[in-house]
Amino acid sequence: MSPQDSTKKCHRCLQPVPPRARRCPHCGDMLKRELPNVSIFLGVLGIIVLIGIGLLLYFLPADDDSGPSNTPQQQSAPAPKKPPLN
Ligand SMILES: [Zn+2]
Repeated sequence: MSPQDSTKKCHRCLQPVPPRARRCPHCGDMLKRELPNVSIFLGVLGIIVLIGIGLLLYFLPADDDSGPSNTPQQQSAPAPKKPPLN
């Protein structure tokens, strides 16, 4: 019931401005951004930390063999059999 919801108000001239406008069309003042970049930076940092912990746990030497085999099994390549001399 409130048609003013879809528009913001300029904090400077108090005129209604479109919600996606970066500048007020009336006074030209810069409007505040709703989502600061800090939250995005913290999210990326959290993802990097999680990946780091995952890699650390993955490359830790496993003493017991109960878990899945993380250690690479070094299998010696089969020696090529020489054809019998005839
Ligand atoms: Zn304005």
